[in-house]
Amino acid sequence: MERQHTNKHLMLPDAAFGFPLRWLQNETLYSLCSRYHRLSLALRHHQTSQILFGHRSGGHAHDLPSHLDNFVEATCGALGTALEVIEHHTMAPYFLPFRSPSSAADAMRAMRGPGIKSLKFQLGLLTSRFRANHPLKFCTECAIRDVEVGHPPYWRLVHQFPGVWLCRVHERVLDVSMLKSTGVGRFGWFLPDEAMLEGPYTNRIADESVLEHPDLRRFSLMCEALGTTPLEVHFSPVHLVSTLRLRLAERGFLTSSGGLHAQSACASFAEFSQSFSKVVGLEALVVDEKSAYSQLQLIRSIQRARTHPLRHLSLICWLYTDWAEFLTSYRSSPPAQAKSAQATTARESTISETVAHPQRSLCIALMAGSGYSASRAAAQVGVATGTAMAWAAQAGIAPARRPKKLDVVLRSSLHDALRQGISKAEAASRFSVSVQTITTTLRTEPGLHLAWTQAWRAREQCKRREDWIQGMEAHPTASRKELRHLHKADFAWLYRNDRDWLTKLMDARPRLPGSNNASLSWERRDRDLCDRVRAACTALQGGARSARAGRKLALWEIYQQVPELKPQLRHLDRLPNTKAALADSVGTIPSAKDQLPLF
Ligand SMILES: [Zn+2]
Repeated sequence: MERQHTNKHLMLPDAAFGFPLRWLQNETLYSLCSRYHRLSLALRHHQTSQILFGHRSGGHAHDLPSHLDNFVEATCGALGTALEVIEHHTMAPYFLPFRSPSSAADAMRAMRGPGIKSLKFQLGLLTSRFRANHPLKFCTECAIRDVEVGHPPYWRLVHQFPGVWLCRVHERVLDVSMLKSTGVGRFGWFLPDEAMLEGPYTNRIADESVLEHPDLRRFSLMCEALGTTPLEVHFSPVHLVSTLRLRLAERGFLTSSGGLHAQSACASFAEFSQSFSKVVGLEALVVDEKSAYSQLQLIRSIQRARTHPLRHLSLICWLYTDWAEFLTSYRSSPPAQAKSAQATTARESTISETVAHPQRSLCIALMAGSGYSASRAAAQVGVATGTAMAWAAQAGIAPARRPKKLDVVLRSSLHDALRQGISKAEAASRFSVSVQTITTTLRTEPGLHLAWTQAWRAREQCKRREDWIQGMEAHPTASRKELRHLHKADFAWLYRNDRDWLTKLMDARPRLPGSNNASLSWERRDRDLCDRVRAACTALQGGARSARAGRKLALWEIYQQVPELKPQLRHLDRLPNTKAALADSVGTIPSAKDQLPLF
């Protein structure tokens, strides 16, 4: 009854009438839901989330939203499958091509379900020097045209990707909404016309002069192009490195022995990067000749090839005319040496396994070619049945089984569960068999042991990472040593199995006062932040001669203008100049504890 009532007033999706909206061209999921919110006259933002995503904060992320399976169910699939929504209406296709297929699959799984809490961390966005809270961007001219053709202004996907600052249709610099990404209206559903209201709600991403800058224009177009990459495309780090090296050689930046002409390459790259200072959010791409060298290490190190897409794009933009030229080069470059080496190693190991036991080939041939059962083939060549079954599994031959301890349906369910990575003990308990039966199943089913090992490790990794992050959050002031002591088991596992992640996370953590570097870093941060806060306050107060000069400001007005301020509010004790600047303009500064409920 309640659902019917709500249906009547809120235009809920209904199987009988279908969902009331369709995608506009190149529209984001967030945009469609915001149009729905307006159309349905829902009073509260969380009502729309609950209706469309089955959760009061579901789907609210405008870049990488969650609960997409619920959305597909709520819209009866009228707007596409979850994967179609991810591919054509979210920012995921921008972030996934440089990730491995398995981490991309994890990301998509997280978006389909409720678990995007650590997604940005897993994608490396929180540990990069770029903003992970992506601002909503729009073109004023597009918004005006939208109204002229009879629908509200909407968010275009192509404008949202990091690095995009240009509306190609209207040759305009995009505007940036101060809603959502600054924490104001974080769970809200807004359209560009709300962001266009007078006041400090929008900012230009750059001034008009960038329109005349050919490199910045190429860069914006490349960022757009990356965002349209199909989900199944993944750049192999090895192949990527070899492609870029080939290009470096063509440009004369490599020596005949394959080394880097560091001086000329760094000078060229540093000069190219200077223009990034003109676009808000891309400042971290600006490098001097010295730091250009470490950026160029990306081309030499396969491991470091897993970095923020903006860094890849800055290198690609430096080396290629456009995205199409890069893709052609990537597709036509010869297979990388490292890849060949891996293939050779794999081939060698197969060969060595083949020669390791003189009866192995014969045994496999009997089972594969002559239809022998494992026990009969084993008896024929004089080995144990289990050994014959294991050889068969390694060779990809499924042994002929008589239904015995597990019937066919149960066996299939067990295989599925093991492929999800449940532990042997858990599987034994759930399927009422012995652990030994589970072990035998893993050994004798082709491909199952590998799939189980990978899935089990992924589960364990996820759990350990979550525990470690929770530990860090629970003890924000603990030193590294204290953290290690508090979470010994997690630390030991992560150190052994996931050291890169652990190191990166610990390096990204602000150092506690005590070391000179830490003090210097806080001093510098304080100086920069103080300058920006004072400039923002002056602008908000309208300058010295304005009637508004000297009026007290609200804290949120300032951090809307200086988004970097918000995460630092709880550290004001370490930022005395910033604190003083705020005190001058705001008056009483609430304590860190009092600031939390504001958003
Ligand atoms: Zn436009």
